[in-house]
Amino acid sequence: MELEEIKKEIKRRLEKYVKESPYRFNPDKEKVELILNGLAKRKEKLGFAYCPCRVPSGDKKEDEKIICPCAYHKEEIAKDGICLCGLFVGKER
Ligand code: SF4
Repeated sequence: MELEEIKKEIKRRLEKYVKESPYRFNPDKEKVELILNGLAKRKEKLGFAYCPCRVPSGDKKEDEKIICPCAYHKEEIAKDGICLCGLFVGKER
């Protein structure tokens, strides 16, 4: 699959997530595009949309935690209003 197509697929999936979650995309659209590019590259190379801001361990089970939206974003948004990578922000931000 083309990188651009992979990106679109990830974007659609995450847009759906945003609709069902208490979060939204970072209003900085450039930043969102950069992160989506990073996620698409990781999916193309490694098979899964691992967070571009985290280092996969190589252990598939362990790395499931860093497939976007990762296991850590809720806690990060609760604490800082934004996930580590800056893709999602809290609604009040
Ligand atoms: S830190 Fe943000 S961009 Fe990275 S995987 Fe978690 S939710 Fe996605």
